[in-house]
Amino acid sequence: MFDRIRRRKPDALDIETQRRHQEMREMWQRMPLPTPAVAPEGTRPSEPVAEVDDFLPPALRVPSHDQVAGRMMPWLRPLVLDGEIVTCPACGTYRDWIIVSTRDEIWLRCRAGHEQQEKRLDTAWYNRHSGPADSTHATFEDCPRHLGH
Ligand SMILES: [Zn+2]
Repeated sequence: MFDRIRRRKPDALDIETQRRHQEMREMWQRMPLPTPAVAPEGTRPSEPVAEVDDFLPPALRVPSHDQVAGRMMPWLRPLVLDGEIVTCPACGTYRDWIIVSTRDEIWLRCRAGHEQQEKRLDTAWYNRHSGPADSTHATFEDCPRHLGH
């Protein structure tokens, strides 16, 4: 059976495919090869450049993760984990959370200020769902206040 397939006559599609491959080979041969970049006459390769402090001014720099004790973001809608809506065990609320990422732990804080660790979430999850920080605060309590809690 395999032998029969191998011996069958080329059909119109085979012929068309071969013709196009041949066209591409010919086109490829007509294309000029890329010429290597040549430095203009009189220039020397890599002259030392004076270092300039062109980094952002301090007021516009965002602290890196090792310069802050933690980060937090608002989470207004219900948080669904493993098909279950997370609720606050103290007051029963299920939305309007602040999600805190600190020391490789994720904590949820409801509007009433109850806090619970959420072990189903991790820093990678937090990083995927949070935007860039818009402000930094000196104390923990300033952060939820900034987020309206
Ligand atoms: Zn609560």
